[in-house]
Amino acid sequence: MIFRAWSWLAMEKADKYEKVMELGRRRGFFWPSYEIYGGVGGFIDFGPVGVALKRKIENSWRDFFLRRHEFLEIETPIITPRKVFEASGHVEHFKDPVVECKGCGRKYRVDHVLAEAGVAEAESMSLSELDNMLRSRGVTCPECRGEFSEPKYVQTMFETTIGPYAEAIGYGRPEAAQGIFVNFKRVYEVGRGRFPIAIGQIGRAMRNEVSPRQGPIRLREFTIMEFEFFFDPEEPSCPLLSKVEDTEIRIIPIQSEGKRSEKPIQLTIREAIDKKIILMEWMAYFMALSHDFVSQLGIPMEKQRFEEKLPTERAHYSAQTFDQEVYLERWGWTEIAGHAYRTSYDISRHMEYSGVDMRVFRPYTQPIEVEEKRLIPVMEEIKKDFGENYAEVVHTVESKDPEEVEREFLEKGFLKVGKYTFFRRHFNIKRFKVKDAGKRIIPHVVEPSFGADRLTYAVMEYAYSTKNDRVILKIPKKIAPIQAVVLPLMTRDELTSKAREIYLDLMEHRFDVYYDEIGSIGRRYARADEIGVPVAITVDYDTLKDDSVTVRERDTWEQRRIGVSNLLSFLHGYFN
Ligand code: AMP
Repeated sequence: MIFRAWSWLAMEKADKYEKVMELGRRRGFFWPSYEIYGGVGGFIDFGPVGVALKRKIENSWRDFFLRRHEFLEIETPIITPRKVFEASGHVEHFKDPVVECKGCGRKYRVDHVLAEAGVAEAESMSLSELDNMLRSRGVTCPECRGEFSEPKYVQTMFETTIGPYAEAIGYGRPEAAQGIFVNFKRVYEVGRGRFPIAIGQIGRAMRNEVSPRQGPIRLREFTIMEFEFFFDPEEPSCPLLSKVEDTEIRIIPIQSEGKRSEKPIQLTIREAIDKKIILMEWMAYFMALSHDFVSQLGIPMEKQRFEEKLPTERAHYSAQTFDQEVYLERWGWTEIAGHAYRTSYDISRHMEYSGVDMRVFRPYTQPIEVEEKRLIPVMEEIKKDFGENYAEVVHTVESKDPEEVEREFLEKGFLKVGKYTFFRRHFNIKRFKVKDAGKRIIPHVVEPSFGADRLTYAVMEYAYSTKNDRVILKIPKKIAPIQAVVLPLMTRDELTSKAREIYLDLMEHRFDVYYDEIGSIGRRYARADEIGVPVAITVDYDTLKDDSVTVRERDTWEQRRIGVSNLLSFLHGYFN
């Protein structure tokens, strides 16, 4: 349906979600993609105002996290060869449990249907537990009440081939993080060895969601904003923590094995660290910042919380995860960012699968003498067992820690690296006395990962308000998609030419501004309020006499006269 009549009555009855979606379509924020062909679930298009808002949110994220810490930003491809996701564990783990309705054939994510039926924590159940739960609760298809098939896992990465005739499988990345991990060593070097260091990326991610029926909340293609913070696990303290230690956040922690507390507890970051609720100081620091980041986007503290994920709910790479959630009227508590302590998992796996040493050298203040073990390949034995391939085979072991190799040989009698199996006869392990100037470490990682589309929607839901039956989108002025509109009171030449002059001047000075002369002044104010323009500047007949304009504020509807010569300094002050 391309056009939907929207009567005031329908509006009265609609919930916030429907109101925001209607406004989104009508005023050019966002709408379902491929609308003229009936739409395809899980995709949305952003229109001119929506793009402007989303960009402001992205830039605000850049400022808040990357720029102020001098973190490095990169951009890497969406299509990623299978090998990368084999190494990262996604090929094995990135799947969702699905059921099909035997009546109408609709497919659902089992944890989602169970959540709707009031079963919490279905995310952590096995397939048979999910099946039992469905049967014991008598949960049926929400559309036709049909019975469900047995649950099964489906892979949720989009699959393609790299090269039209090629066999090589590639995937649309479900997170931007792997582009960061595979580039860690290069970017670390480009950053001239600064450490600890974070590398960030904003880009598209793809997840072949089973049943995306939640507009911008659950998409099959969306924008992710994430950074990986790399640090030395032997020096895990965060020197910046004192800046945020008094920040209060609301957390739902895991209390005892397998159980989360019922209600959020409110505590300071310092308390969360001291009570060992958040395990890593850096993670706590970024959670505090993320809380402030979301607050400044207009979402108050009591509508935000951090839910700790149970071990069975966490992604395969994570040792501790908090979902940062905001409350949405229709969808309840909804994740807008994931905070994960990814340990050394990803870098270690990529070292193992690529054979590239990605460790970081950390110098000691004084060199020390140490005994070092080295792996000396016994070439005759390796050639005998691996033939022509011997050089490649030896290469796979180069990044291995000789201590670990020795342990494997002692404990298991063999060592497996990728597809190769080695035995004791393939390597001699020799001891040398060496001067050690530093250590080589595999960095540990904490990651905050935000979804830009969900955040854009949440900002709109919180900004949505009404006054005298009119919609006002009270988007915080720092991220308002358009900062000001210039309006001639009437379409008389002397007014329009002056208004255009002011408009062009503001544009020159890099304000996000538009000019509007179509319709009555009341309608033009209403339009500006609906797209969240904080300031409306009206040129009227007094302007021609005293060179002043009327400045109207969106949130208060207050009007004041300001001299045209003072307009720029007024706006600079207002927005900064
Ligand atoms: P995750 O890696 O699952 O923690 O996702 C990181 C963030 O991406 C989430 O907090 C969401 O904001 C966003 N996100 C994840 N999946 C989707 C989706 N299907 N549609 C829109 N945003 C998503």
